[in-house]
Amino acid sequence: MSLPARGVFGERILALADEIARHSEAGDNLTCTYLTPAHHAAASLLLHWMRQAGLKAEIDATANVVGRLPSVMPGAKTLIIGSHYDTVRNAGKYDGRLGILTGLVVLEHLIRVGAELPFNVELIAFSEEEGVRFATPFIGSHAIVGKFDTAILERTDRAGLHLFEVMMEAGLDLKKIPSLARDPASLLGYLEVHIEQGPVLLREDLPVGIVSAIAGARRQVLTVTGQTGHAGTVPMLGRHDAAAAAAEIVLFVEQRCSRGDTLVGTVGQLNVPQGAINTIPGRCELSLDIRAGDNATRDSAIDDITAECAAIAARRGVTIESREVMNSAAAPCAPRLQLVFADAVKRAGYRAHTLLSGAGHDAMVFNGVCDIGMLFVRCGNGGISHSPLETVAASDADAGARVLLDALMHVG
Ligand SMILES: [Zn+2]
Repeated sequence: MSLPARGVFGERILALADEIARHSEAGDNLTCTYLTPAHHAAASLLLHWMRQAGLKAEIDATANVVGRLPSVMPGAKTLIIGSHYDTVRNAGKYDGRLGILTGLVVLEHLIRVGAELPFNVELIAFSEEEGVRFATPFIGSHAIVGKFDTAILERTDRAGLHLFEVMMEAGLDLKKIPSLARDPASLLGYLEVHIEQGPVLLREDLPVGIVSAIAGARRQVLTVTGQTGHAGTVPMLGRHDAAAAAAEIVLFVEQRCSRGDTLVGTVGQLNVPQGAINTIPGRCELSLDIRAGDNATRDSAIDDITAECAAIAARRGVTIESREVMNSAAAPCAPRLQLVFADAVKRAGYRAHTLLSGAGHDAMVFNGVCDIGMLFVRCGNGGISHSPLETVAASDADAGARVLLDALMHVG
């Protein structure tokens, strides 16, 4: 198949990302949360671009923008290419949008050259992934896999508006949501191109990488209870300092989670409620976020941390309670789709490097529904994302598009 000149895909992706980023609900930064005027404008623009590219496109009942390229083969299965167009507050221009726009330029090219694929393609720009406005993520992709939970319709945003009101106000037909669910038997797979949002590909000096799995996360809130006392009068021996116990836990988490390829562990919150400079901490609260490429690795780290907490508690005469607040399973990428991407990466002239996704993506919603495959594109600027400082080089976006195009020619 004829390919556009090197760089053409990449320049266009970045230009489109700039254009769609003009629609923001904040004056001085990019913020595009679910069903705000900026979000509507972004959806309209995507719809326009998809139709211009030659796709049959529409906005569905959860505001996903869906473009279809039907196969010439009767009864063909459907490959979904997706990512999200909502953003966090004060966002970068490429998180989510890069994947949509990469799919767009590639399908536009296939249509232009008259390529015939043995499967249907659906390019889905998911309306909601970040969970910013209603504190519930994956609204768009959940509808596509039939996991839209109607209980979330009662949720309210910061202004007190209910999700169902906002959706109805936007002209979305809530009764149609169940019918958005795709039949898993009809799906060939799900592919997502996404900015890496980390520094691994920068360090590897590679424009793209193949994702092995999306890490499963477990989060806990730990409460350490000791004994408060006067900082000047209680001797060091015999203190039950809750913060000192918490400090031991933090160091153990760091040390334990340094043993394991894909394992990461973070204590991101550490509080001494009503702490005072001259009081021995009687209580300390800390958070725990443990992720790994497979559930067993992550769970064994949690088990060791739990055992260490018990030992610390016994030694220091404190109690440590834990409450699990999140448990999401790791989503492995299908070996066959990893191979399709790896072969395409090699044919493009790069080393095929495989890496774990520490962040969640729409792709994880398709885990258990159909095969998933993800391609990461190098994130510039040290790997900063969820920030206006997020960057992607045009040449890297170009490599991502070329690899996706090649993968489409070999995935069927
Ligand atoms: Zn994203």
